[in-house]
Amino acid sequence: MANERLQKVMAEAGVASRRKSETLITSGHVTVNGKKITTLGTKVEDEDRIEVNGIPLQREKLVYLLFYKPRGVISSVSDEKHRKTVMSYFPDVRQRIYPVGRLDYDTSGILLMTNDGKLANQLTHPKYHFEKTYVAKVEGIPTNDQLEKLRHGIRIDRKLTSPAKTKVLSSDLEKKSAIIELTIHEGRNHQVKKMFEKIGHPVTKLKREKYGFLTLDGLQSGEWRALKATEITRLK
Ligand code: URA
Repeated sequence: MANERLQKVMAEAGVASRRKSETLITSGHVTVNGKKITTLGTKVEDEDRIEVNGIPLQREKLVYLLFYKPRGVISSVSDEKHRKTVMSYFPDVRQRIYPVGRLDYDTSGILLMTNDGKLANQLTHPKYHFEKTYVAKVEGIPTNDQLEKLRHGIRIDRKLTSPAKTKVLSSDLEKKSAIIELTIHEGRNHQVKKMFEKIGHPVTKLKREKYGFLTLDGLQSGEWRALKATEITRLK
């Protein structure tokens, strides 16, 4: 990380996007070794002490972990109701990692954990293209017409969802339920549950099976692994 542009280092530390970091620099909010820097393109070394609004920037080795989040775990760093959080699965990770986006408390599946703020911002940006594949158990058996609505886009919170892919994995006429695979690009709040709710088939169980090219292969619920260098490159 030697000799990097100041705004790049700030973005990677999760301060803000690179563009916003540039604004913070030019508007005089950033010091390096106690000296105010307002020139873009200033380069910094690993040992330089950077402060933003007087708060020291934490520069750590970047880590990228793929976690199989169990149900009944909060995907945030802390919880005011003192429920179990994803952090309890990483007691020996020294870096200040956090989840990339969210999975609901009762949703299981793939969750990326990192301390790379730049990548986290990029992956959670609405325009980002990685597909996310979910497997949902739903009440009742959706008709093809209903699934067609999901495939075309459906209005949620006054905004149309982008087209989704659907696949019926199984349906149980006796129990009146079905298992449906749904692939979407976006990551709006409770999106999958809202989409199925909207077509009249509420979700009773939800798992995220894939995040782009990443799968849960080789992991049990509650386990994690470090991403390989090639996987990190593909994500960026
Ligand atoms: N959609 C949901 O409804 N819940 C999740 O946890 C993820 C996607």
